[in-house]
Amino acid sequence: MANLESFKVIIAGGGVAGLTLANALEKAGVDFLLLEKREIAPQTGASIILQCHTARIFEQLGIWKQIRAATFSLTGRFHFDERGKLFDDSPIFKLVEEITGWPVVLIERQSCLDVLYNGLEDKSRIRTNVGVVSFEEDEHGITVKTDHGDSIRGSILVAADGVHSTIRGFLANAVSETDPERSRCLNRGFTSSYRAIFGTSTNGLESSLARPLLPEGIINHAYHRNVSGITAAGAKGLIFWFLFIKETEPSIALSGQKYTEADATETIKKYGNLLACPGYTFHDLWRARVRAGMVPMEEGVIQGPWNNSGRVVLVGDSICKVSNLAVEAVCNLVNGLVPLIRKHRSPTTKDILDVFTRYEKAQRPRAEISVKTSHYVTRYESMDSLWLRFLRWLSPWIPTSYHVKSFLGYMKPAPFLNFLANSNPGQNDGAGSK
Ligand SMILES: Cc1cc2nc3c(=O)[nH]c(=O)nc-3n(C[C@H](O)[C@H](O)[C@H](O)COP(=O)(O)OP(=O)(O)OC[C@H]3O[C@@H](n4cnc5c(N)ncnc54)[C@H](O)[C@@H]3O)c2cc1C
Repeated sequence: MANLESFKVIIAGGGVAGLTLANALEKAGVDFLLLEKREIAPQTGASIILQCHTARIFEQLGIWKQIRAATFSLTGRFHFDERGKLFDDSPIFKLVEEITGWPVVLIERQSCLDVLYNGLEDKSRIRTNVGVVSFEEDEHGITVKTDHGDSIRGSILVAADGVHSTIRGFLANAVSETDPERSRCLNRGFTSSYRAIFGTSTNGLESSLARPLLPEGIINHAYHRNVSGITAAGAKGLIFWFLFIKETEPSIALSGQKYTEADATETIKKYGNLLACPGYTFHDLWRARVRAGMVPMEEGVIQGPWNNSGRVVLVGDSICKVSNLAVEAVCNLVNGLVPLIRKHRSPTTKDILDVFTRYEKAQRPRAEISVKTSHYVTRYESMDSLWLRFLRWLSPWIPTSYHVKSFLGYMKPAPFLNFLANSNPGQNDGAGSK
């Protein structure tokens, strides 16, 4: 492993983005320190879908085996109308796995974070309950101040501090006088038109409810007017589920805006009687919850640049609020950083900025496509317009091969970590063997 100790990355945030970055830097032999203002891997009840291209990167990082052991392959999707009638089903995930060798899996967010954390050899580079509160930079590096009053010196600061990124706020304040429009965009963050209740419940529920066990590996989609839901038995004994509800008015997701347990209970009272999948209402799932919560569904991509024209760069939910992108964004950033640091132990701010610019150039188009797709799917499943209701009626006639082709088309250009071996060298079509 190369000795690149003179260059040090400070990472703010220990979510999926921050911990993936930590693993990649450790593998590349680049010094780093990760500051997480809370604990690593809190239990929130949230689950995440890991698609094939994320699996490939986790394989490179040596943590895929552990993820695989805690999950099983998703195989098919079943679509139900508001009366619980199956109107479409597709073995898309099974076909994608057969073609590429990589499954799509659902995992508790907490388990995923645990695996990422345990994948690190040197845990002393992770400091929990330490938040970044400010930074100052100069020609040679950056000094980060923490809420403990410490000053930490590094070469760059990577903001992996989530949807209400504190560091994005600092970037906004820094340009409030010189570029008020950019400042407003950075500060405004994302818009939410939907809220989501997410939960993890026991599969089979209590015997008193006499509910059937949900079959493993199937994702059920429930379509209601302005409301939709997803239910899946993604891990042994557990059901992961989401209920998406359209807001009467879109709102700007304000920093710190949170729904309480009482808000979630009130929402379940109103929508819980809707069918989630055969045999279950959302109310049944709520009653059998291990953990659940409610969040605004932020959507969007932050206007560029995703850096401060200096040594600070944004990744993960701080720039783009959509599923499955945090890991590949980190990959694109690291693919630029590692060769630079291997060439120059102390790169100039301009060299660093070039890497940040190339990272954004690679990632932004994928972020925009993902946000558009996710925007469309959310509205389609909640039957937001007459046109979408018509499309739903048409959907059983769209061949599965078309969906598989679209999925592979999205997956194909996804990045690998260039400095690590991958199990399908020389191609980016996802063919692997896991
Ligand atoms: C309902 C819902 C469903 C989702 N489903 C999926 C899915 O199926 N698939 C998928 O890939 N993604 C999904 N996502 C998104 C996914 O959770 C995130 O995109 C992904 O986890 C990356 O998040 P992140 O690491 O950027 O931010 P976060 O997970 O928010 O982590 C940010 C971290 O930074 C810390 N922090 C904040 N401020 C500071 C500071 N000043 N100093 C230090 N630390 C700080 C926070 O405590 C937190 O731990 C979903 C999200 C939601 C809300």
